[in-house]
Amino acid sequence: ATPISIMVAVGRAAQHGILIRRGEALQSAGRLTAVVLDKTGTITEGRPSVMGIDTAKGWSEKRVLGLAASLEAGSEHPLASAVLRAAEAGKIATSAVDGFVAEPGHGVAGSVDGIRLLLGNVAMLEKHGIDLRAFEAQLASCFKEALTPLLLAADGQVVGLLRVADPIKPDAREAVQRLKELGVRVLMVTGDHEATAQAIARAAGIDEVRAQVLPQDKATVVKELQSRGEIVGMVGDGINDAPALAQADVGFAIGTGTDIAIESGDVVIMAGSPLKVSEAIHLSRLTVRNIK
Ligand code: ADP
Ligand code: MG
Repeated sequence: ATPISIMVAVGRAAQHGILIRRGEALQSAGRLTAVVLDKTGTITEGRPSVMGIDTAKGWSEKRVLGLAASLEAGSEHPLASAVLRAAEAGKIATSAVDGFVAEPGHGVAGSVDGIRLLLGNVAMLEKHGIDLRAFEAQLASCFKEALTPLLLAADGQVVGLLRVADPIKPDAREAVQRLKELGVRVLMVTGDHEATAQAIARAAGIDEVRAQVLPQDKATVVKELQSRGEIVGMVGDGINDAPALAQADVGFAIGTGTDIAIESGDVVIMAGSPLKVSEAIHLSRLTVRNIK
């Protein structure tokens, strides 16, 4: 590869909203055999919103939302802002929380007025030994509709379920299609529940899903593919996928993400479009071919 042809290609990429931060990434991109896409913020918009609330007998939607928002006030997660926005829209006040803890990939916990609260996914509540049978039907309908259920438990009982939607990006399906056309294996990784993940993947045209992956294990998914001979690109927004971006042969940071993602990425995709990943691979192949 001559320095000049690379410089030209880097410039051309920049015009297309693809920022190459590491020169070698331009050459490696064309050799990728697999691309792992993070779900939240990469395939989906990453701006989730609360669509509805189910409650247990004796509990009002307002009370459930108020307690959920009180807990989420301490969290930076995109799901937290969805809950806080819903409470604000309903003019619901939040309460002070004692002993707040965030459990990455699971949810949040703490106490309000001496009531022990948990808010999170099925895995979190099961880990805490909570019986979910009363909400089985509501959970099933969430999964069918590709919604993420946030369960609220108070003193060991499920008292509510918040149905959260995070729609897929309008160009996600085309982005996946183009990668497949380039002969690249496409996978989706997420901490979300298997059933929700499968529904989102289906909508995006992705056949391979790794769900319920804890934040620290996303890099392991990349490593495993590499150990089986794949050359792996990882696409994420850096909300807990920075180590996976760093582990990948080429890390694509979605530009709407966090500063940490941009720093861990070899390539920064501006305007958040997953379509740019296949464009970068295509451009890389053209450049490398011209150099030879
Ligand atoms: P992703 O892989 O989609 O970026 P995360 O690993 O951050 O997601 O989270 C995985 C799952 O853990 C979420 O889908 C949600 O069910 C649960 N979760 C994580 N953080 C929170 C939170 N602050 N409040 C509620 N649920 C949470
Ligand atoms: Mg994420």
